[in-house]
Amino acid sequence: MADFSLNEDQQQIQKWVHDFAEAVVRPAGHEWDEAEEFPFPIVQQAAEIGLYGWEFMFNAMSDTTGLTLPVAVEELFWGDAGIGMAIMGSGLAAAGIAGNGTPEQVMEWVPQCYGDAQKVQLGAFCVSEPDAGSDVSSLRTRAVYDEANDEWVLNGTKAWITNGGIADIHVVVAAVDPELKGRGQASFVIPPGTKGLSQGQKYKKHGIKASHTAEVVLDDCRIPGRCLLGGKEKLDAKLARAREVGSTGQKQPAMSTFEATRPTVGAQALGIARAAYEYSLEYAKERKAFGRPIIMNQAIAFKLANMITEIDAARLLIWRAAWLARNGGYKNGEGSMSKYKASEVAVRVTEEAIQILGGYGYTREYPVERWHRDAKIHTIFEGTSEIQQLVISRAISGLRIE
Ligand SMILES: Cc1cc2nc3c(=O)[nH]c(=O)nc-3n(C[C@H](O)[C@H](O)[C@H](O)COP(=O)(O)OP(=O)(O)OC[C@H]3O[C@@H](n4cnc5c(N)ncnc54)[C@H](O)[C@@H]3O)c2cc1C
Repeated sequence: MADFSLNEDQQQIQKWVHDFAEAVVRPAGHEWDEAEEFPFPIVQQAAEIGLYGWEFMFNAMSDTTGLTLPVAVEELFWGDAGIGMAIMGSGLAAAGIAGNGTPEQVMEWVPQCYGDAQKVQLGAFCVSEPDAGSDVSSLRTRAVYDEANDEWVLNGTKAWITNGGIADIHVVVAAVDPELKGRGQASFVIPPGTKGLSQGQKYKKHGIKASHTAEVVLDDCRIPGRCLLGGKEKLDAKLARAREVGSTGQKQPAMSTFEATRPTVGAQALGIARAAYEYSLEYAKERKAFGRPIIMNQAIAFKLANMITEIDAARLLIWRAAWLARNGGYKNGEGSMSKYKASEVAVRVTEEAIQILGGYGYTREYPVERWHRDAKIHTIFEGTSEIQQLVISRAISGLRIE
């Protein structure tokens, strides 16, 4: 089993990200939340120190203990979740390419999801649609092969896409054979500047406002054959196999990407929860009511005791899942457990933080109301809490629970 003491490299990375989060990210959180704009200058700074970039992601992903990425992400989101998401958002596109592409495709496209410090680029992973979020087997976006030109033609609308429309690289999951549901889907890279891809509405959100979320419209969007991730031969073989056994709605390319990224999403929520806990602990020691610090009341002290207990429990689940993902794999939906637990903990802990700060907590002068808004997205995206429970139920029972 894992040794949960961080090695020297991991401790260094933890401190390095924490220092950046403390000096740059945390102080900028309020401003970018209010502006509701993508924080390009901050992402640029992250690129300059090497935190935003494919090399960092590659190194973090190569860590055999699996802990480097969740440790780094917790610190970043401790700084601010909206900005954290702006820095981490391209990672989902990169993971989609790494999970489904050939080694050549990974080398070609993953670096383009990030660019470099001179020219920051972004990636977007486009799965969800207006009528298909949790139910990713029912995607309507179609990809049709034009054999004469060796091109794919994509049509459809993607909804709630992080970096949608402002990204340089869009990875799109589309139905090649809709009758086969999830087994008839494939992932495609849309290169920068491709005609037929445009941004639809930009959403105004409850939280993580610094992260850009928009519709992506694909209107006769033509891409070269080589942009099919994994290649045509592999897809044809997969479709042939699926036609033999029929559609089961399983094994979507999108699902394998989400499975792999779940502990990292849990770590995002964990960072927010820890920020709220630390802030409200300090506040409770300072704030006086009835002549004594409010922490001297068990009602407040016990809240804090419960908050840290839940935070530590969530971290242990995340670290276990991250370790298992590299060392033997999940058995009982441990990736889902970690994301489910951490996101629910973050919502509860940030709400308790507002309660501890009282009237101040409810105002935008203090960060805890923002952290509460930011926490909520984690019970929704990359699989809602209900979908995580579904994955866990199926894993423990071996049954196709509906
Ligand atoms: C800020 C933000 C960023 C996002 N970024 C991306 C992105 O980059 N790429 C991307 O592809 N998508 C992205 N999404 C989309 C996100 O993944 C979906 O919103 C999410 O998967 C839920 O899908 P839905 O909204 O269609 O909800 P629905 O699937 O309609 O679900 C509605 C409710 O029904 C419940 N429900 C549905 N099915 C079941 C079931 N079988 N059993 C029990 N309960 C069920 C859900 O849990 C939920 O509570 C983003 C969303 C947001 C808000």
